[in-house]
Amino acid sequence: MQEVKIPLDWPDIGELEKEYVLKALESGYVSSAGPMVREFEERFADYLGINHAVAVVNGTAGLHLALKLLGIGPGDEVIVPALTFIATVNPVVYVGARPVVVDVDPCTWNIDPAAIERAITKHTRAIIPVHLYGNPADMDAIIGLARKYGLYVIEDATEALGSTYKGKKAGTFGHIGVFSFNGNKIITTGGGGMLVTEDPELARRARILVNQGREPGETEYEHKEIGFNYRLTNLQAALGLAQLERLPEFLAAKRRNAAIYRRELRNISGIGWQEETPGAESNWWLFSITIDEEEYGQGRQKLMNRLHEQGIQVRPLFKPLFRQPCYHGYTFNLCPVADELYQKGINLPSASFLTVEDINVVARALKSGAC
Ligand SMILES: *Cc1c(COP(=O)(O)O)cnc(C)c1O
Repeated sequence: MQEVKIPLDWPDIGELEKEYVLKALESGYVSSAGPMVREFEERFADYLGINHAVAVVNGTAGLHLALKLLGIGPGDEVIVPALTFIATVNPVVYVGARPVVVDVDPCTWNIDPAAIERAITKHTRAIIPVHLYGNPADMDAIIGLARKYGLYVIEDATEALGSTYKGKKAGTFGHIGVFSFNGNKIITTGGGGMLVTEDPELARRARILVNQGREPGETEYEHKEIGFNYRLTNLQAALGLAQLERLPEFLAAKRRNAAIYRRELRNISGIGWQEETPGAESNWWLFSITIDEEEYGQGRQKLMNRLHEQGIQVRPLFKPLFRQPCYHGYTFNLCPVADELYQKGINLPSASFLTVEDINVVARALKSGAC
């Protein structure tokens, strides 16, 4: 690949981040004991309008913790979408439960509520909807199913900070919501995440489990429960506080860039894109399209190679779970929609610092290949 001129998802780090991280360093609090961790949790909870936020070392750990907190384990089934990053599903296996993979909607690319209902058995305990590429899943239908069948909902909101569904923030619908602050996500702490909930008891237990099972005030190294070392550090929280302050700026840039893509790509035959779920506003974390080889005149892989030669960084969609070598030996339902999206899909450059001109360069490159 050429030198990257227009990046896909690089972080947006500025002066405020330097200032806060320097402040953390100068305070001497580098580890999880520092005051900025609690401050970051409180600001984050306020932003979402939820009661409790517990900082964690990354989104994967947050999902693992969520399953543990809800007592999900061997003999249980957890329903997950076929089209997602592998980290939605691995934690289900970590706790000894069985992932049940269901297909997604061809317009929103998110888990299909009708497919969820068909997959429910007497062993089903939870649903993990993913707000793919920032686009909220159909939460009314999913919460409705969870109530009807007595299931837990863990929202994988790792890609969806700032997205809303019917005016309410993604991540606040389920029993637990989980966010990621990996380097490529909408805000970053280097690596990091947040577990959020309205339930004070779940939050209290989460704080104990992230800290080796240590109860508040315990000083004698006595642990009543086997926990994890899943805490975020003060240095990371400093970065997170700066990024959270800048989130409105990132969201505005992503929304503007997505609007330009939609306007410019509308008249190119063979190109489609992920549609916002009715009632939802995506944070447009990664603007993503599909290429119909026959109509467009070039297949997905050739197009990706051509864009890379021009320094435009793109990526295929997540490989569906039933195609993952690490899940060979598992029995999964057929998921033709997820598979077709995977065959045709590409993430386009979406970093929040990209300019209007950058987006236009990508749009022109896409137009020049169309037949
Ligand atoms: C990023 C991501 C995760 C995991 O988050 P990490 O912080 O990288 O562990 C989980 N699920 C999805 C859908 C993601 O995009």
